[in-house]
Amino acid sequence: MKQKETLLNIRLDGEKIELSDKHIDDMGDNHISTSVDTPMRADAFEKTDDAKIAAIETHFRAIMEELGLDLTDDSLRGTPHRVAKMYVREIFQGLNPANKPVMALFENKYRYNEMLVEKNISFYSNCEHHFVPIIGKAHVAYISNGKVVGLSKLNRLVEYFAKRPQVQERLTMQIGKELQQDLGTEDVAVLIDAKHLCVASRGVEDDTSSTITAFYGGRFQEEKTRQEFLQYLELKTEF
Ligand SMILES: [Zn+2]
Repeated sequence: MKQKETLLNIRLDGEKIELSDKHIDDMGDNHISTSVDTPMRADAFEKTDDAKIAAIETHFRAIMEELGLDLTDDSLRGTPHRVAKMYVREIFQGLNPANKPVMALFENKYRYNEMLVEKNISFYSNCEHHFVPIIGKAHVAYISNGKVVGLSKLNRLVEYFAKRPQVQERLTMQIGKELQQDLGTEDVAVLIDAKHLCVASRGVEDDTSSTITAFYGGRFQEEKTRQEFLQYLELKTEF
């Protein structure tokens, strides 16, 4: 590898590797992720949100200036601050475990032990390789083992994990594993159908494809249960 192609060193599986510009593009275009957990620094939450906003504002101003934009223009003047605030308080707030929804459980007094499906949960996320939107729908299901959770909590949990720089496979698994833990059951399914703007608007520029990822735990690994779940997703509802 020529020296000028070496852009940075990262740790992947504990090993230092060198990434060339081409490797970096390939990793993004193939949407490869390295683990189920979002890779975070040990000092991720030592700074306050306000301190992060102030620092990101400075960095984003520098990016805009490098692009040649005139930040004395009234329309652009506030953009670095707006972007910084949006990153920390809105679209990436799911990085902070303090923002995780509390999944209060209730006794399943009516003994409903069939499958519960919450479908068409809209979410907005951002691709961690390009920082452009992923727009999709999540369908979540579980079979109660005696405890149930408020329906809106399923939407909130999807939203929480979506509000991070993400790859779709990881988002799917993070929702599935968290639900298994919160509900105390392996019987959880998550299916996500999403459009990646980094695929639609740049790179291969495919505007019509979408990506489907699935997580099937416990009884959802059985063909019959899985088919029942998939049939519910096809049910047309007229409201
Ligand atoms: Zn991407």
